[in-house]
Formats: sequence, C-alpha cells, structure tokens
Amino acid sequence: MVSYKDLGLVNTREMFKKAINGGYAIPAFNFNNMEQLQAIIKASAETKSPVILQVSKGARNYANQTLLRYMAQGAVEYAKELGWENPQICLHLDHGDSFELCKSCVDFGFSSVMIDASALPYEENIALTKKVVEYAHQYDVTVEAELGVLAGVEDEVASEVSHYTKPEEVVDFATRTGCDSLAISIGTSHGAYKFTPEQCTRDPKTGRLVPPPLAFDVLDAIMEQLPGFPIVLHGSSSVPQEYVDMINQYGGKLPDAVGIPEEQLRKAAKSAVCKINIDSDSRLAFTAAVRKVFAEKPAEFDPRKYCGPARDLMTELYKHKIINVLGSDGKA
Ligand SMILES: [Zn+2]
Repeated sequence: MVSYKDLGLVNTREMFKKAINGGYAIPAFNFNNMEQLQAIIKASAETKSPVILQVSKGARNYANQTLLRYMAQGAVEYAKELGWENPQICLHLDHGDSFELCKSCVDFGFSSVMIDASALPYEENIALTKKVVEYAHQYDVTVEAELGVLAGVEDEVASEVSHYTKPEEVVDFATRTGCDSLAISIGTSHGAYKFTPEQCTRDPKTGRLVPPPLAFDVLDAIMEQLPGFPIVLHGSSSVPQEYVDMINQYGGKLPDAVGIPEEQLRKAAKSAVCKINIDSDSRLAFTAAVRKVFAEKPAEFDPRKYCGPARDLMTELYKHKIINVLGSDGKA
C-alpha cells in the first residue's frame, strides 16, 4: 500500500471546490509517455495551474501502470525544480472499468479514480460505483462516476451513439453512491471524429464542418438538481484545425476531423463543470510536429529531433488550454 500523500500528490476535493467557486475548470490531460508528461508539467508550472494527470486503460497497457505511477511521482519533483513551490498535481485513473482495477490504483498511489459503469444498467452502475467509493474513501482517494453515455472511441471505450444524462437521476445517483464528481453526457464525444459530417453543418466560407452545440439545457437542469456538485466533461478536445491541416499537409490523412469549439468549453468551465478532459488535441499536436520534421528533414533519425518539437508544440497547446479555455492559470 502506497499513499499518494507520500508522493506529493493531491486528490480532487479542494481543487474542485475552488474551481466551482472561482468559475474555472481543472485541466485533465492524459499521458502515455515522457514527452507528454514533461509538456503537461512545464505548462502547468509556468502558468501555476492545478492539473490532473490521467492514466487510461490504454495507457496502462501501453506504458505499464508501475512506470506511469513513478513518472507521476517524478513529475511532482520536476514541477518543484521548475519553481512551482506547492504543485497541485492529481494522479487519476481514467475510465476504470472494475472494482479490482480501481482498488489496485488506490493501493498503488493514485489520488483519484474514475469508475465508469455507465454502460451497465442504472442499479448496477450504482452498486459498483458505491463499492469503489467505499474502498477509495478509506484512503481519502476521490472518485469520479459516470451517468449517461458518450459517443466516440477512446482507447477501449467505444460507443456509437450518445445518451444524454437524465437530470432526474442525478440526485439519487450521487446520494446513493457517495461519488465526489460526476461525468455527464451533454454532447461531447471521444476521439478526433466527434461528429459525422451528417451531424454537422458546413461553414460556407471555409468549407469546415461546424459541430452541433452542446446540450447546455441538460447541464443547467443537472446543476439545478445538484447545486455546487462537481461536474466532469469527457471528450472535450477541440481538434484544432491548424494541427489537422499540418498533419494533412505533411502526408497524413484526417479528413473532416472535428471537435468541440473552445467557446463552448469556456462557457462550461464557468459553471459547475470543474474538470475538462483533453486527450486527442495533444495527440494531434504530437503527430503534426513529428510529421513536419519527417517531411522537411527526411535524413533525421534521432528521436530527440522530432520528439523535442512535438513536446514544444504540446507545451504550447496545454498553456493555451489553461489560459484561454479553462481559466485555471494562477490558481495553484
Ligand atoms: Zn473519457
């Protein structure tokens, strides 16, 4: 048993309370490798933003859970080295799908876990979430649960259609499970293809797809039921078109990739939405930078020469999100 407190990590409780009261949201960035983690920590340290490092099931399979946890521990020390005196860093399991997985993360130094039982029938979702909460709370580890289903593909989490969260269920669910935060479905979606062209309109000037707006009426109804309760948005990458263009320009093929417009996320961040998950955007930045180097310098074979620029572009992206979308800069 390793306590996250000994690793210098924090859970989400205080972070979320301050974020709701302050009208901003905490960035939750996924990481799988060193360059991504360096970029996240550098951006957070330079902007003094609290941050949630997310490990998905796919990341555990790719990079190994043990290694990722020690990387997060190293990240705390790296943040201090960068001059961030009191780093507010949470290590969070993204989309945990079983009690055993959540328990192993709690036992291993994670400060927060998500149990995603949203695909199960309502009563089974409650029972499994409650079991995880009862275990995690013994160690002051916070728990995110999910109600409603997001469309899209993210590692091993996939669904073809979305089902909005039912506002009439949230009080019962939150009360009976004791969860600390709730991921809801209001039209965000996993991956770089959040909407089909049929779901979108096209901007006549640019020819770009314009996605349908998020269901803010559902969010409002949820907040009315659960005033001040921490709400989480998954699948909230914006799929910046400059990265999509770079990828396509340098030999990639991402036709009609589309995400959530940043002004909608800015609006959400001012509400009880206090955690916004962003993964695809950093994948796009990484790939765009690497493709550019490969195209322009075909003789290059030192990974540092293309992972370095990828890291720089991701750092820029994370800072932009923190300052211009989430508003979490200067809050830690
Ligand atoms: Zn997700």
